[in-house]
Amino acid sequence: MRRLVVAGYGMVGHKLIETLVERGATSDWEIVVFAEEPRPAYDRVNLSSYFAGATEADLALAPPELVATAGLTFHLGDPITGVDTGSSTVTSASGRACSYDALVLATGSVPFVPPVLGRELPGCFVYRTLEDLAAIRAWAGSVATGAVVGGGLLGLEAANALRSLGLATHVVESGPRLMPTQVDDGGAGALRRRIEDLGVTVRTASQAIEVVPNDQGAVSALRFGEGPDLGTDLVVFSAGIRPRDELGLAAGLEVGGRGGIVVDDGCRTSDPRIYAIGECALAVGRIWGLVGPGYEMARVVADRLMGEPGEFTGADCSTKLKLLGVDVASFGDAFGTTPGAESIVYADAVDNVYQRLVVGDRGRRVLGGVLVGDISPHQVLSQMARGDLPTPAHPQDLLGPGREGRGSAPGVGDLARTARVCSCNNVSKGVICDAIVSDGLTAVGQVKAATRAGTGCGGCVPLVTDILKDELVKAGVAVDDHLCEHFPLSRQELFDIVRIARVRSFAGLLATHGRGRGCDICKPAVASMLASLGSGHLLDGEQASLQDTNDHFLANLQRNGTYSVVPRVPGGEITPRQLVTIGEVAQEFDLYTKITGAQRIDMFGARVEHLPRIWERLIDAGLESGHAYGKALRTVKSCVGHTWCRYGVQDSTGLAIQLELRYRGLRAPHKIKAAVSGCVRECAEAQGKDFGVIATERGWNLYVCGNGGARPQHAVLFAEDLDTETLIRYLDRFLMYYIRTADRLERTAPWLNKLDGGVDYLRSVIVDDSLGVGEELESEIERHVAEYRCEWQETLDDPNRRRRFRTFVNSDESDRDIVFERERGQPRPRPPHDSDDAGDRSGPDPVLVGISGRRSNGEG
Ligand SMILES: Cc1cc2nc3c(=O)[nH]c(=O)nc-3n(C[C@H](O)[C@H](O)[C@H](O)COP(=O)(O)OP(=O)(O)OC[C@H]3O[C@@H](n4cnc5c(N)ncnc54)[C@H](O)[C@@H]3O)c2cc1C
Ligand code: SF4
Repeated sequence: MRRLVVAGYGMVGHKLIETLVERGATSDWEIVVFAEEPRPAYDRVNLSSYFAGATEADLALAPPELVATAGLTFHLGDPITGVDTGSSTVTSASGRACSYDALVLATGSVPFVPPVLGRELPGCFVYRTLEDLAAIRAWAGSVATGAVVGGGLLGLEAANALRSLGLATHVVESGPRLMPTQVDDGGAGALRRRIEDLGVTVRTASQAIEVVPNDQGAVSALRFGEGPDLGTDLVVFSAGIRPRDELGLAAGLEVGGRGGIVVDDGCRTSDPRIYAIGECALAVGRIWGLVGPGYEMARVVADRLMGEPGEFTGADCSTKLKLLGVDVASFGDAFGTTPGAESIVYADAVDNVYQRLVVGDRGRRVLGGVLVGDISPHQVLSQMARGDLPTPAHPQDLLGPGREGRGSAPGVGDLARTARVCSCNNVSKGVICDAIVSDGLTAVGQVKAATRAGTGCGGCVPLVTDILKDELVKAGVAVDDHLCEHFPLSRQELFDIVRIARVRSFAGLLATHGRGRGCDICKPAVASMLASLGSGHLLDGEQASLQDTNDHFLANLQRNGTYSVVPRVPGGEITPRQLVTIGEVAQEFDLYTKITGAQRIDMFGARVEHLPRIWERLIDAGLESGHAYGKALRTVKSCVGHTWCRYGVQDSTGLAIQLELRYRGLRAPHKIKAAVSGCVRECAEAQGKDFGVIATERGWNLYVCGNGGARPQHAVLFAEDLDTETLIRYLDRFLMYYIRTADRLERTAPWLNKLDGGVDYLRSVIVDDSLGVGEELESEIERHVAEYRCEWQETLDDPNRRRRFRTFVNSDESDRDIVFERERGQPRPRPPHDSDDAGDRSGPDPVLVGISGRRSNGEG
């Protein structure tokens, strides 16, 4: 019997031991494990869920049977302190000596803490172990503000955790942008705006040089090389990792210039009897800071110990950010470093969606990409980048809103059997399909248990779900319509629960109707439901963080950091007094005015601190919020109809006003636009809208699911010659059915394209009430109409909400970076390169509250 000693019982050490036990290695090897931490390995990847209530037991990786397996000995809380390669013996902190035939170093890494003065002060933490998190939680209980030093993947996760603990949270990044190693400039800009929408303040290009103590010697502020101090009661350092190579170094093993124990493709160190795996190893010239590559190394060492060939040649470094409400993914050659690589970029500054696709071979091959705000194409694209799916003729069709319903994207059925679905556990599509067929699996949980797919970082769970559904459909088996393994309910059922039980948070829904910690499927789906059910005022509690961008200030953020103000003008009808007020307000606050394409008046250039005063004046004149910032009904455009026009056959203006007032403020998966025309000449362009009405001699023709925008789609004729009452009933049902069943950020046209049975099915639900939900859908709209309030009016009435409207945390000043020039008699933003140099200012710079989208105070 040979003896294998494992130093370190973290995620990768655990994978090694588990693999060896599974393969029956304990009949050849006696395995002795030394662990520094006092408990068996746990799921560090999901460590943050500790703050959402996950316990040590929830995070445990090893089932009790494994720990009790014959041939395995664990010395917990007893780290190895020395390795004598001459006698092939290790010694531990408690004085144990243990000889080995093979030694595996799986000692992981430590968080890098930059050389900041005062970094040892009470209130400073790192984010790596359960103990670290327990200490952060204890400290956070008695303080109000926290700062994370480091704006990478983990730093943002830590910031989200501080936010969830109720702290006002800041992220400080020394580089010019967030997540510098995963996303490019464009992606980082969109990411930053999304993070700020969560209420987290971001400072980039800010080098922390000192933690400033208070009278009691605890953290009170962060000091920078430049700029004002940042007041904070707690600091988490998350500025990268350093491999724990100290054992290897002391034992004379080869170590890389910047750390890490050098290993060959069999994960062997410079001493052939010693292996190194996971984050302590320098493999293929780099430290792999992700669990998937570590697991791959563990498999390679298991192969070698079993006398089989196995090689580590690199691994997929696709990453996803695990923040509720902030979707970020990067995959493959995200920065386009492959010779001949070209980029296709889709950027939507209003919705903060940024998608960059890197292609090679003149667009015939997907190489990689960065997705921010909408990562739905991630799985398909990353499989293409790996070569497991063919690249379609126009891969750009997969980006932006155009990808739905184009029929060009290969589906999960096209995925090769050899395609690696779960990188963490190296599970291919073929293994998953075989398990489904041979074991008769029908639920994702069963597939996970049988194959391990989806049990690592969880990023592949949506793909595993799609594969399962595809296989079940092929086998003619009824597909389980449960949203995911965390909610044994369909999306529709969950929506009803959220609505009826008036659930306000994802955590609340999980606690009452779900299990586990949620995943990439249920989190965004529930966020979208909460948003469309408009639980409370937009600026209150978790609501604010779940909403899309711009809702933060109830205004549209524009290019130079100012906001636009758009009062509602139902049906385009406006009184002279209201016109005068708009003119006066625009003149007083020096706003640029423009008639929009949808019959409203935009006022651009409003400073955030002026917004409440502007709205006071507008509301006094009988105007109200136009929801131009929200995913909600925008306008019902109209022509003048039979009142003025000699062709008109019905009162199109009157109907448009009636409909706009009925549906104003109705939150939806995406914005909704509508129009009413007084005759077939269609001056209001109703057939390009989410719903459109055209007058006929006998009533109204209703069109649905048209979209303008980047990929226009004509609306479909839904019903003819309706009386007004029936028209409104159908519209109530149609809108609420869309809101209930569409995905987040899905407009009506792609939603219809995806609907099984298309418009005929939709007609059966709305007109024939085939689901028996008609009355319920109507009553939902009635409730909305009864409860509607102008969000701006409510904001003005509440001093706490009003207080949000300031530019700086520490000053009531205006933003000095906002500079205008004049063009055609109106203000327009001065391009950034023309702005006055900030160098002639005196005094410390104020700190931005959370206004994004431009460079300011050197923050990028
Ligand atoms: C909060 C957080 C979130 C993360 N999220 C992701 C993610 O989403 N996706 C992803 O792929 N990766 C993620 N990671 C990284 C992932 O956790 C690591 O890649 C993985 O844990 C590395 O495994 P390891 O076994 O090499 O190191 P570890 O899991 O750190 O285990 C090393 C163990 O060795 C012990 N040890 C050290 N020295 C000795 C010694 N001399 N003797 C005995 N024991 C010793 C340590 O105490 C530790 O328990 C995350 C990490 C953190 C902290
Ligand atoms: S749509 Fe018909 S009624 Fe309306 S303005 Fe045009 S021509 Fe006149």
